[in-house]
Amino acid sequence: MDQHSSLTSTDIGVASARQKRFARLWLALLGLLLLAVWLLPDSAELKQSNIWFPTWLHTVTEFFAIAVALLLFSVTWHSYRTDSAGNLLLLACGFLAVGLLDMAHVLSYRGMPDFVTPASPNKAIDFWLAARLLAAVCLLVVSLRDWQPLRRVGTRFYLLAAALLVVSSMVYLQLWYPQLFPPTFIEGRGLAPLKIQLEWVVILLLGVAAVRFWRAGRSAQNYDAHGLFLVAAMSILVELCFTAYTNVHDIFSLLGHLYKIIAYGFLYQVMFISSVREPYRRLAREIAERQAAEQKIEVLAFYDSLTGLPNLDLLRDRTAQALTSNQRSQLHVALLYMDVDGFKTLNDSLGHSYGDALLRALAESLHGLIRDSDTLCRSGGDEFVILLPDLDSPDDAAAIADKIMRLLQEPITVLGRTLSTSLSLGVAVAPGDGRDFEALLRNAETAMYKAKQAGRERWRFFDSSMNEDALERLNLLNDLRQAVAANELLLHYQPQVDLRTGELLGVEALIRWQHPQLGLVPPVRFIPAAEESRLIVPIGEWVIQQACRQAMLWRQAGLRVPQVAVNVSAIQLQQGNLEQQVLQALSSTQLPAGMLELEITESSLLDYTDEVLATLKRLKTMGVKLSIDDFGTGYSSLAYLRKLAVDKLKIDQSFVRDLTSSADSRAIVMAIIQMAKSLGLATIAEGVEDAATAQALLQLGCVEAQGYLFAKPLPVAQLECFVRERAATTVS
Ligand code: C2E
Ligand code: MG
Ligand code: MG
Repeated sequence: MDQHSSLTSTDIGVASARQKRFARLWLALLGLLLLAVWLLPDSAELKQSNIWFPTWLHTVTEFFAIAVALLLFSVTWHSYRTDSAGNLLLLACGFLAVGLLDMAHVLSYRGMPDFVTPASPNKAIDFWLAARLLAAVCLLVVSLRDWQPLRRVGTRFYLLAAALLVVSSMVYLQLWYPQLFPPTFIEGRGLAPLKIQLEWVVILLLGVAAVRFWRAGRSAQNYDAHGLFLVAAMSILVELCFTAYTNVHDIFSLLGHLYKIIAYGFLYQVMFISSVREPYRRLAREIAERQAAEQKIEVLAFYDSLTGLPNLDLLRDRTAQALTSNQRSQLHVALLYMDVDGFKTLNDSLGHSYGDALLRALAESLHGLIRDSDTLCRSGGDEFVILLPDLDSPDDAAAIADKIMRLLQEPITVLGRTLSTSLSLGVAVAPGDGRDFEALLRNAETAMYKAKQAGRERWRFFDSSMNEDALERLNLLNDLRQAVAANELLLHYQPQVDLRTGELLGVEALIRWQHPQLGLVPPVRFIPAAEESRLIVPIGEWVIQQACRQAMLWRQAGLRVPQVAVNVSAIQLQQGNLEQQVLQALSSTQLPAGMLELEITESSLLDYTDEVLATLKRLKTMGVKLSIDDFGTGYSSLAYLRKLAVDKLKIDQSFVRDLTSSADSRAIVMAIIQMAKSLGLATIAEGVEDAATAQALLQLGCVEAQGYLFAKPLPVAQLECFVRERAATTVS
């Protein structure tokens, strides 16, 4: 499709339907006026009177038309572009010639001074007819030609040369060889028949052109065909006037010249709009299109397609700007680096559509927390970064971090499902934590990892010791890979007792790592890293195997340890072959399934897929017990607990610790115990450190407990002593 045909009618300034109707109405009125004059009685006083059209008025009207023709030529010629329609150039060159011939006509008019030869009606009429014929032919050709650019750019010079050649030949022949022209005016008798006939030929040519323009104007067109129709139709009225006039000063001559001015007005409208306004508008439009394209490119290059948030490149740019502009001021620039906790698990278990929807929902919520001058960016995956460009103090960043943490305490509803999500967040503030974007970002990320390690759902300021920590973490992970094979892992066992009788109900196996250099490493220092690296799967397998073996050894030794509880991480459930591992451990050790309990943390419960639930169910059917660890910190629903057929809720230490000092904790513990009762579940309190707490628990109806009050997690030998002592002192 060429450029022209891709334009819409409003683009090229074509008149609206109302304007068109209005113009046609005028045309009809002018036609009626002509008809009315025609029908007037043919009297010498009226129609043929000399008063109607004096020579000076003729000169004025003709010069007006000549000026318009020259103007049109010059505008069209100079605004020419290779993609302008050739038709415009045809009109321009044609009407240049018409204008020049009209000039010759004016100069030959009766009453004008000599123009090489004396003025005469014949001479004036000949130039006139030549001009009219040329104009009609020109309009006809334009009406027949497709509205397309010239095939070759140089053609316009030929067109101009042809126009000048026509004019100069006509002038030359008429002035020096007038005898070659048949008479068109006979003194005393008026117009010669030839003149009238030629006017009719002109009318015929114009008629064909008018019909073609009319038709073109009715179908969707890429140029102002209706305007050209008006030009042709108006020119017909002009010609009709000149078939009717009897002397050059009569009323028809006046009307003819006035109509000619109107026809030129229409022509001006068509050509000026096509040559000047339309290219100008197209330029207004092309700029807009280019801007839109640039904007689109910018969006693709600098924004994240999932959330519509700025990406890392844009963030880098804005951070650099903020750092530069704040160099002299006392303001601080902060980056907040966030990572969604457990996002991979959610994505794997619920599917990518949930993951995407969650990210979008998070983006929206986070966006609601920041000011217009801040930038929220999705830096990739489940990571977001906020740039706070002008803080009075680093404390302001802390306030935002707190706000974000509070925001996520409420579960988010995504695709009709309520999900509890949390973020780990790290903050780095310039200039203290870095003077350029890369350093700031790196440090904010380090702080985020630190927060994650500290147990997720929390935030940390960066401090320079963190890089050392990161290094240490890396080393630790390397060492951990060897730990299973090197036999460096061991289990301690913490007793669980009946608060009423002091009787031992079981033990919880808690892992320890005997590191060759670092000594005994507690699980908080390596379990998160093991989970992240998936090392927890082989480690978990070892724990289950080891705990079952130990329990069987005690059983065989006649030591009464009714059951052993093992912690199972969410990763093991999702990725590991937990069912297989448990089966294998039970069968190889011959431990009765009822003596094994699996502890699942509540916070990871919501991430479980149907497949995981089915696995847990099968394990339950085998007789393995199930408890929910750290209960009260997550959002597990009653329906869920019932569905899982859990045996026991382990009330989280945080509530137990504050049981006697905080009314809130007391209320929560009470609620948990009552809820468990109504569901037929047992409860066990973790972290019982003093007798008052134990007493309070008993009062509330919780009879099982675990904590330093009874014993810390103990190595095997010490646990055995503990069990023996217990057995001796317990009143059964
Ligand atoms: P948990 O399962 O909630 O274990 C209870 C934690 O509370 C243990 O810490 C225990 O030593 C501690 N604790 C027990 N009584 C008291 C008390 O009276 N006061 C206080 N302040 N603390 C008490 P530990 O052994 O450091 O284990 C921490 C966490 O590491 C465990 O929390 C569990 O989530 C995880 N973990 C331990 N062993 C394993 C394991 O074999 N596999 C997995 N996946 N996670 C494990
Ligand atoms: Mg536990
Ligand atoms: Mg716990």
